[in-house]
Amino acid sequence: MPVSLLGAAEVRALAADLDMTPTKKLGQNFVVDANTVRKIVHLARVREGEHVVEVGPGLGSLTLAILETGAEVTAVEIDHRLAERLPATAAAHGVPDGALRVLDQDALRVTELPGDPAVLVANLPYNVSVPVLLHFLETFRSIARGVVMVQAEVGERLAAAPGSKVYGAPSAKAAWWGTWRLAGTVSRQVFWPVPNVDSVLVGFERAEPLGSEDERMLTFRIIDAAFQQRRKMLRQALAGVLGGTAAEASAVLERAGIAPTARGEELTATQFLGIARATSPAPR
Ligand code: SAM
Repeated sequence: MPVSLLGAAEVRALAADLDMTPTKKLGQNFVVDANTVRKIVHLARVREGEHVVEVGPGLGSLTLAILETGAEVTAVEIDHRLAERLPATAAAHGVPDGALRVLDQDALRVTELPGDPAVLVANLPYNVSVPVLLHFLETFRSIARGVVMVQAEVGERLAAAPGSKVYGAPSAKAAWWGTWRLAGTVSRQVFWPVPNVDSVLVGFERAEPLGSEDERMLTFRIIDAAFQQRRKMLRQALAGVLGGTAAEASAVLERAGIAPTARGEELTATQFLGIARATSPAPR
């Protein structure tokens, strides 16, 4: 029996049956449009037999579209009622036994998944979308690509290049893990309840790591400091991270080939890494 998708009326009926009112706190805006979920799955190039991890499956709209391809899904849902109901919804929609695993957990705290997922697909809860993305990319290195739906401003940030107005810490950190692209806009009307923000689709492809894990951790601290103190020059932010003087920080920047007057908004992830590397004195 082929997998069938959830219709708009069924999404509402499932919520009513669970006696639930979607909450803003958990970013519960459910997709009620089959074309939208199929588009996400298509953009992610999900193939039969692949292992996909989904964050926040909710009532299952996107989950069923992933399962329709013949892929396997591990879905991580923080809302117990939704996590508990999902297997029954999947079974009623023709999903074969064993194709779906549901973890009833906060995605930010998940450190182990059954097997190694190759793809991340999610309509992310708005308030934690960037932390969830960064956590999954860091923790599950088998994730090679993905497509996520996020608030428009967040998507623009993730895909921004240095020098752009919206380039920030999330942009530089996301670029550490790979390349990002805006893959489309999504109408507010495809959600229930209708959100008061616009959404976009963002695709990513993982790249080779830019540096070691120790280097990444120091690089991310430098990125955080650089963007927390946007109006200050980089050497002041760096002095804070290193616990040294502005002169010492200037020397590090010079070794990294970065102007002491530079600002975080102008630097790529690779240049931030160059600064992290230059904090250790060059070997004699
Ligand atoms: N995927 C569903 C869809 O497209 O209709 C629901 C998407 S809704 C925008 C976000 C989902 O993430 C909700 O089901 C919510 O309960 C869940 N969620 C919120 N915070 C979470 C967290 N920290 N970990 C896991 N799931 C979370």
